[in-house]
Parts: sequence; structure tokens; C-alpha cells
Amino acid sequence: MKLPLPTQVRVLERGWLSSNNILFLEGERAALVDSGYVSHAPQTLALVRNALDGRKLTRLINTHAHSDHIGGNATLQREYGCSITVPHGIAQVIARWDEEALMLTPCAQVCDRFNHDATLGVGEEFELGGLVWHALHAPGHDMQALVFYCESRRLLISGDALWRDGFGIQFAEILNQAAGLAATKATLEAIGRLAVDVVIPGHGAPFAEFDDALERAFKRVAAFEQEPLRMARNALKACFTFSLLEMRRLPRARLAKYLQGVPFFKDIGDRILQFSVEELAEWLLAELMRAQVVKFDGDDIVPTQNA
Ligand SMILES: [Zn+2]
Repeated sequence: MKLPLPTQVRVLERGWLSSNNILFLEGERAALVDSGYVSHAPQTLALVRNALDGRKLTRLINTHAHSDHIGGNATLQREYGCSITVPHGIAQVIARWDEEALMLTPCAQVCDRFNHDATLGVGEEFELGGLVWHALHAPGHDMQALVFYCESRRLLISGDALWRDGFGIQFAEILNQAAGLAATKATLEAIGRLAVDVVIPGHGAPFAEFDDALERAFKRVAAFEQEPLRMARNALKACFTFSLLEMRRLPRARLAKYLQGVPFFKDIGDRILQFSVEELAEWLLAELMRAQVVKFDGDDIVPTQNA
């Protein structure tokens, strides 16, 4: 089914290592929302350049500051000299490049440092592709995240706050930094009050099944509320799968050592699941094999999907 997206809105659909990039054509100019993971930066640049078709990229705006949404910022700014706008709530963290708060060090992820030029505050109105958008606070997966809503065209750019099936990892809740799961629920309730025809998520294809996606997301929240261990297990599997897409392969013999070296994984294993590192490695591998997310290539664990 062809979704009713305005012609000036182009969604460059990516995978799970890189977030989608959403391009807004504005005559001779263009603006972009989110820029993918750093190791994909050359690919992002090529995709954006092709979609720009000679136009000049003047603005880049981020829904939130996770590595898979901001990793191409520096490259795109070097190439086009575009301004970079980040959510107001994370601006200080970006300015001092706090790799701990950016979840880079905890998850053993990397990102090309950039400087932002402007911030977008909660409730602020702005223009993209000749349309008026509102920046709405969407805490949960990321406590400073924004979603962008265009009332006139009933479009929602949801980042990782709402996907077709679920939402992003509950970092704050798992790390005991904030009541992230309650925030996720409140965010979904707020999003649910909007009139939306099409959602452009941070990952996956744009979709029109807004009510169904919300229902699934609420069910997931309820499951996590009932069984917090499930939330931790889910986070570990999702975050490790992301890391494996980046590494491409990991020798089976090195899995336990690898998990031990990544603070977020080690913390979930020790504190929440209370596994020894060997138990953690064995459990994780069995789960991901069962879900057919990973497979063996010789003695190496590899992802079944391309990044
Ligand atoms: Zn995210």
C-alpha cells in the first residue's frame, strides 16, 4: 500500500544499526532528520546525496542523541556545512561530549563528535518541508527524546518512542536512572491522543497502523511492568544484536569476555539476571540462536541480517 506521504518528504529507510533518515525537500534546499550510525556514515552520505539531487542540505535535526541517530552528523556537516539542531534536554551533554551520558561508553559504541548549532525545546513549533511541526517530549527509551508531529498532514516522526512493533530499549529504567517505563507509558498515552495517519519511525518502514502499533506497545509496557527481568533480557538481546551488526562477527570463544567488557551487559548480567559471565554468554547465545537472529559461520557468531 502506498502511504499518503507528502511528496516533499522522503524516507531513507535503513536497518537496525542505522536509524532511518528523513529528508525534507525545500526548493533548492533540504533538511534531514537523523543521520544513522557512524560506521554507516559514507553510506548515509551517498544515500542523502542521491536523494538531494543537487539540492543543498542546510539543516539536520535529531530526534534524540543515540549513536544510531547522530552518527552521521559530523560527516554531513563537514560535507554540506548544514546546521545541527538537537533536543534542548541533551544539548549540554553533547556540548561537553559526555560519552557516559550519551550511552557510548556503557554500550561500547562509538560516534564521531560534532557541535550543535541550535536546540529544539519541548512544545516548540518549527518548519520542515514547508510544513509546520511540533516538537513533543517523548521520554522513556531516551529521557530527552522528542517526537515531531505535523497536525495538518497527520504525520508523526516517532524516533524510537514508537515502532510498528514496540519501542527502543528502556535504558533509564534498567539503569535505575529514572522511572523510564512509567515515562514510556505516559509518552504512548500522549502520542495516542494525536490524530495520526502515518507514522515515520526511527527504524522500520513508515506505517499507517497507528492504533495497532500503540496497542502492541502498551502490551509490551504491561509485560515489562509485570516482569522487569523480561525488560532486562530484552534489552540485552537487542543491544548485543546491535553490537554484533557493528562488529559483524565475534568468535564464540570470546563472547563471555566481550560481555564482561561492556558495562551495560555486565551490569544486566551481574545485578539483574544474576548470571556468571559464562552463564550469561551461554544463555544469550541460545536465545539469539532460537530467535534466528544470529548463526554460526565457522567458529564465529554472525548476525543473520545485514546491518
Ligand atoms: Zn534510540
